[in-house]
Amino acid sequence: MKKQKCIEQGWLTNCRQIPSPHFDERLDSGDISLLVIHYISLPPEQFGGGYIDDFFQGKLDPKLHPYFEKIHQMRVSAHCLIDRQGVITQYVNFNERAWHAGVSSFEGREKCNDFSIGIELEGSNEQPFTEAQYQSLQRLTKCIMAVYPKITPERIVGHTDISPGRKIDPGQYFDWGRYLKDIQS
Ligand SMILES: [Zn+2]
Repeated sequence: MKKQKCIEQGWLTNCRQIPSPHFDERLDSGDISLLVIHYISLPPEQFGGGYIDDFFQGKLDPKLHPYFEKIHQMRVSAHCLIDRQGVITQYVNFNERAWHAGVSSFEGREKCNDFSIGIELEGSNEQPFTEAQYQSLQRLTKCIMAVYPKITPERIVGHTDISPGRKIDPGQYFDWGRYLKDIQS
């Protein structure tokens, strides 16, 4: 029997889905060739609460936290989030362009959103990521690489690598050695 595909038409199968309006068409969906790892927490340093879902949907309530007042009108997204429990949520079809990288460049090519997939880990620069997050990230990355083979280990980067000076995520606690070993095992 054929193994069920982990991605069908750009969506993870058997995955929590919260479609975000913050995306547009890729110029060339055959061009998907970079994976960008980020972290996010809302409010900063706090986990849970569902505010990342709200933020990516453009529904963050500015009255709930002073920080939300500053960011609630930003139109951003990522393809996926992995929360502290390892639960994956997909917001944007992989074949569409999510708005996660901003001003960025990889090997001389700008606008990394055009040709990348963005994964957010719920986290910060103050706390290690969880075991469940590494396990889900490993599974998700292997699945993405199988469907988008132009994404090779050399073409998996942190946000800070493509937006140096402007971004620090995924930060000091992200264990690149472990992750890159995990995905090649
Ligand atoms: Zn980022």
